[in-house]
Amino acid sequence: MTCRCGESNRTPAKHSFRRTVAGTTFTATVDVESCAGCGDVYVPASLMIAFERAVAGELARRGPVSDETFRWIRKAAGIERGELAQILGVTPETIAGWESERRPIDRAAWQLVAAVVLDGIEGPRAVRTRLKVPHRNPSASVGAPIGAEVALELPPGGMIARVLSLLAGPIEFTDADVADALDLDLAALRAQLRELAALGLIGATTATTPNEAERWRPSTRDAAALLQRAAEAGVDLDAPIARASRKDGREAAAQARTPSSTWRATPT
Ligand SMILES: [Zn+2]
Repeated sequence: MTCRCGESNRTPAKHSFRRTVAGTTFTATVDVESCAGCGDVYVPASLMIAFERAVAGELARRGPVSDETFRWIRKAAGIERGELAQILGVTPETIAGWESERRPIDRAAWQLVAAVVLDGIEGPRAVRTRLKVPHRNPSASVGAPIGAEVALELPPGGMIARVLSLLAGPIEFTDADVADALDLDLAALRAQLRELAALGLIGATTATTPNEAERWRPSTRDAAALLQRAAEAGVDLDAPIARASRKDGREAAAQARTPSSTWRATPT
C-alpha cells in the first residue's frame, strides 16, 4: 500500500493507545508499521477495537459502578439502550438517566451488562462464578486508584482470532457457547470451525447429531502458539463471521470494514 506521500516502504513502529475512563488511564503499546518516507504510523482497525474491548473488559471486571463505566461496558457489549430497556422492563429514558448520573445506577443492570462483556472476552461462565471473583467488587473503585495508569495486554482483535482464543482457554466450550458469547451466527461459525479443523488447528471432541452443540478442542492450549500456527497455515485471523440473527446494520458495517481498513495516527 502506498502512503499519501508516495512512499510504499514500511518500517516497524510502536503505537501507544491511551484512554481515561472514570479517572483511570488505560494504556497499551502495540507493534505497528510506519511509512518509511514521512513517518506516518498505520494502526489497524482491529487493534483499535481490541484496545476498546480490553478497556471495557477491565472496567467490567473491576468497576467502579458509575454512569461512565456503565455507558462504556454497554456499548462494548453491543447492547442498544432500547434492547436493554426491554430486557429490564424499564424505559430507554431510565437507562439514559443511569448513563448521565441523573438517576442512581441500578447495580443489577450494571452486573448483567458486565457479565455479557466478560462472556465475549473470557468465554461463557456461570454467572455465580463471575460474581464470586474475589477482586470483583464493583461497588467501589477496587481496581487501580483514581488517577492511576493501567497497562493492558491486548487480546486478539479479529473475529477468527477471538474464536481461537476462546477455544484455547482452560474451559471446553461448545460451538453454541462461543456463538452466544461472541454474538455470531451458529451455522456460519460452524462452517469456519470445520475449515479450521481441516487445517488441523482444532478438532471436534464429540460425535453428535447435526442439531447438537459440538465441543472443539484446540491443537494447543497456548493461545499465542495457536494463533501463530493459524497464521502460518494461511488463516485470515481478521476475517469476519456472520452475526447472530439480530441484524444491527451499524455493527455489520463495522464488521465488514474491519479487516482491510487502517487508521492514520500521529507517531508517538
Ligand atoms: Zn508517507
